[in-house]
Amino acid sequence: MKIDRSTELFRAACTVIPGGVNSPVRAFQAVGGNPLFIARAEGAYLEDADGNRYVDYIGSWGPMILGHNHPAVREAVLEALASGTSFGAPTEREVELARLVSEITGAQKIRFVNSGTEATMSALRLARGFTGRKLIVKFRGNYHGHADGLLVQAGSGLMTTSAQLGGSAPSSAGVPPEYASLTLVAEYNDPAGLRELMRERGDEVAAVIFEPVVGNAGVLIPTPEFLAALHAVREHGALLIADEVMTGFRLAPAGATERLGLEPDLICWGKVIGGGLPVGAYGGRAEIMNFVSPEGPVYQAGTLSGNPLAMAAGLATLRQLRAHPEIYASVDAYTEGLARGLQAAAHAFGIPVTINRIGSMLTVFFLEGAVNDYQDATRADTERFGRWFRSMLEQGVYWAPSQFESIFVSGAHGEQELEITLKAAQKAFSLL
Ligand SMILES: *Cc1c(COP(=O)(O)O)cnc(C)c1O
Repeated sequence: MKIDRSTELFRAACTVIPGGVNSPVRAFQAVGGNPLFIARAEGAYLEDADGNRYVDYIGSWGPMILGHNHPAVREAVLEALASGTSFGAPTEREVELARLVSEITGAQKIRFVNSGTEATMSALRLARGFTGRKLIVKFRGNYHGHADGLLVQAGSGLMTTSAQLGGSAPSSAGVPPEYASLTLVAEYNDPAGLRELMRERGDEVAAVIFEPVVGNAGVLIPTPEFLAALHAVREHGALLIADEVMTGFRLAPAGATERLGLEPDLICWGKVIGGGLPVGAYGGRAEIMNFVSPEGPVYQAGTLSGNPLAMAAGLATLRQLRAHPEIYASVDAYTEGLARGLQAAAHAFGIPVTINRIGSMLTVFFLEGAVNDYQDATRADTERFGRWFRSMLEQGVYWAPSQFESIFVSGAHGEQELEITLKAAQKAFSLL
């Protein structure tokens, strides 16, 4: 495989961009080699700067549930573009998208921002403003974006690039320990631990924020007992915030909230809601959302929030999903077939793996035994995963370049892509 142009671009990028990338998960640090530079994408495929084509399992890390460059999304953006790109004043599309999100999810009011990070950061400020309390609770290995108070025992790129310190120590340099000390950390899928923490500190806790299905430590699926303990935090007057930035509009029309029957007070969105353009959002009951300025005292703003092109892409994506709900069954079936095929291929060559899957999210953990929390995930053989990843890439399959991430299947993945992928996987396992 010729990757001269990517290599050249990466070298140039490193001289002007830290690490050559604008988000750490794009680097290939965990798997070896240099990141590929992508020139274009269509349907289930990426094409790099040297003209190599790959079956894509990143889907821009979640947004592209319809596949790349979907005609409905492209046309909606082009139509919006013709009228100008940003006005700094309200537009009709913001109302339309807010109404649509409200109809699909049941959230009474929604505020649009520009990223998932902004959504969780703002939802937490709102929870603190609403309850008048200081502390928040998060779970080890969950990732909620890169706001200061959330970089504590965080997953995603931080699991890949650094060893975590214990307790409430920040996962990043530059986060004052005073900020981190306002974040309490509990174990995912440990209902007793959460109950105990809430018994001790519950009356100081403004909100408990969680990934309803974890994608950022690899896929972790919550137990019914854990979900019950999460809902019980409200007995202490804390708000429950579902971070559906990854799962929203993906695991079901109304995300994990629908699929798992959750009743959060606030929900955060990102990724799919922008259809590949930068959009985040948070929403919930009017009683809480009315605390957001200018209606209420919790300040939150954004020069480009509700941007016309971004709203157009989000609207087109959610409308497409609504008009074709069969997409959910089709990505589920594809991903189930993928899981079965990968399991069989690993077994055939005696490679122990545990595959966690729900809907169109999946992680192949290179280890033996169940993976239910952060600690379980960290037992994975990351060196072996790296070799498997590189072999898949050389065969034209672009998997997530880290053991601790989910892959994402789109409506554009079909029989042919499944066949290519499983054939590549068999060879990759055989070479281990
Ligand atoms: C991606 C992600 C975020 C952060 O979103 P950005 O748009 O990258 O800021 C937050 N929470 C979860 C669960 C995510 O997967």
